Order: sequence, then C-alpha cells, then structure tokens
Amino acid sequence: MSSDRIKIVWIYPDLLSTYGDQGNTIVLERRAALRGIPTETVNLRSDEPVPSDGDIYLLGGGEDRPQILAAQRLLGDGGLARAVQSGAVVFAVCAGYQLLGHEFGGEEGQPVRGLGLLDISSGRGEQRAVGEIVGDVAGELNVPRITGFENHQGVTRLGPNARPFAKVLHGIGNGDGYEGAYAGRVLGTYMHGPALVRNPGLADLLLRWAVGRDLQPIDDSWAGRLREERLAAVQT
Ligand code: GLN
Repeated sequence: MSSDRIKIVWIYPDLLSTYGDQGNTIVLERRAALRGIPTETVNLRSDEPVPSDGDIYLLGGGEDRPQILAAQRLLGDGGLARAVQSGAVVFAVCAGYQLLGHEFGGEEGQPVRGLGLLDISSGRGEQRAVGEIVGDVAGELNVPRITGFENHQGVTRLGPNARPFAKVLHGIGNGDGYEGAYAGRVLGTYMHGPALVRNPGLADLLLRWAVGRDLQPIDDSWAGRLREERLAAVQT
C-alpha cells in the first residue's frame, strides 16, 4: 500500500453482486475516511484485467453460472493470484468465497475448478442454507461475535492450510460447525448482508491488515443496536 491511500478493487460487479455485497466497499471507504485514510475504489468489470496493485479485493455472492464464469475469468487473468502473493487483503462472500478454493459445485453439482488461493473445497449440500447466521470468531482475529445472513447450496471443507473463521452458534456456514475460512490475509465467509455493515469489527480487521497498524476506535453505537436486534432474534 502507498502510505496515504487504500486501493479497493471490487471484483466483477457484473457477475458477483447478486446479494448487495457491494455495500461492503462503502463501509470500508467510510471507516477509512473516518480515520483520515483516503481510498480509491475500482469497480472492475469481468472483461477488464485485474490490477495487481490493489490493497483490498472484494468478491461478492452470485448465482451458479456467473460464479463459474467469474472463476474461469479470474483463473485466466492471474492478477488476483499475483496480488495475494504480494500480500493483498481479500474478502470474499459466498460464491466469491467458494471460488477462491480448489473446487466448488456447479449448477448440476459438477466439480468446477477454483483459484486455489484458499485451502478449501466446496460441493453441493443436501439442503439450501438460508437464514441468519451467528458465530464466534477465531480468537487471534480479535473481531466480536458476527451476525449475518446466509443463502447457499454449497458446503465447504477446509484443508490443513486454512483456518475456520468462526464457530457457528446459529445457522449452517460451511456445514461442519464452522463458518468461513482464512489464511494469511485472505478471508472468505458465507455472510451476505452486507457483512461489513453488520460487523464493523470485521471491516476494521480488513483495514488493519491493509494499513499494517491498529486504527483509532469509532463510535459504533448505530451498528451495535442493529447487532443487538439481530442477536436477540435468533437462538444461539
Ligand atoms: N452458488 C453458490 C451456492 O449456492 C453461491 C451462492 C451465493 O453466492 N449466495 O452455494
């Protein structure tokens, strides 16, 4: 990262923004601005080359066929893999999360090759997971209890080089009692929402990773009220 600005790359809004996940970019821009850190956001269409000089890459959810097309284009492009090798932050939701792995299930459940940037593999589950999800985040990430909304058919298995992002208290997540995965600065989750609106602590984790230092706290009472309401609405 250049010392005074964060470059955010929103990957393929034309294929991967079915569930409003683009709101995550707005949260990152706003929370950086409140700390006096300027941002530049690139909305990268799927026919454009992926720049490798981004600081934070965001991928959203999508339906099965756009997800397959996105994976093919990202594999062919190679820019995201180069950025990850240089230490970029990646935050990927649902279809975006699955396609970071070795493989995921296509529209007929067929295995589709992913980018291999996270040591996970996904396939098609028996039942669609739809509803609220709540989880306790891996302690080393220092992020409060997460709340979100999930809507996916896929189930995800983690390999030895990925750690579970959160332990599920309510909802389905990966299907193994955990939700999401991370390795280094690459983090995937099943939380739509947009996830960063509901979980400002998670937004700050991504910003901390990008700038390499702690950030001053922000008054999050508005988000706190939403979190309390959502937590009260589910059984954990
Ligand atoms: N097609 C994938 C699944 O159903 C991803 C869905 C999504 O992004 N919400 O698992």
